[in-house]
Amino acid sequence: MPYIYDDQNIFAKILRGEIPCNKVLETEHSLAFTDIAPKAPHHVLVIPKGPYVCHDHFATAASEAEIVDFTRAIGQVCAKLGVTPGADGNGYRLISNTGNDGVQEVPHLHMHILAGRNIGPMVM
Ligand code: 5GP
Repeated sequence: MPYIYDDQNIFAKILRGEIPCNKVLETEHSLAFTDIAPKAPHHVLVIPKGPYVCHDHFATAASEAEIVDFTRAIGQVCAKLGVTPGADGNGYRLISNTGNDGVQEVPHLHMHILAGRNIGPMVM
């Protein structure tokens, strides 16, 4: 299935520096910044720098270096926030909304990291 990437989406503009963000972490292939409308005391979005719409697009089209970098960046942000369970924190939730049924607002792959309070049960 072809993936069509809209380079006018808001995260593409953040990556190009056209609109600002509150940067939490930057690596060679990934960027993490705080969500503009936080749903928890810690709400960080981690995105790959490459033009990927969603996880399955990323998993099939990205290089191994990008995939490793993105996965590690998520872990590095959790460590930076001090939310790693068993180490210094109390845990977190990762969410990646995808497509219409996943209610994805921004069509650039992003992982939400929610932490800093009990996030509660999954609402189905
Ligand atoms: P989605 O619904 O696509 O999973 O989540 C998109 C997220 O991007 C939302 O939580 C929304 O608050 C956040 N967001 C939308 N526009 C901006 C923006 O301009 N800057 C930042 N930092 N976050 C944004």
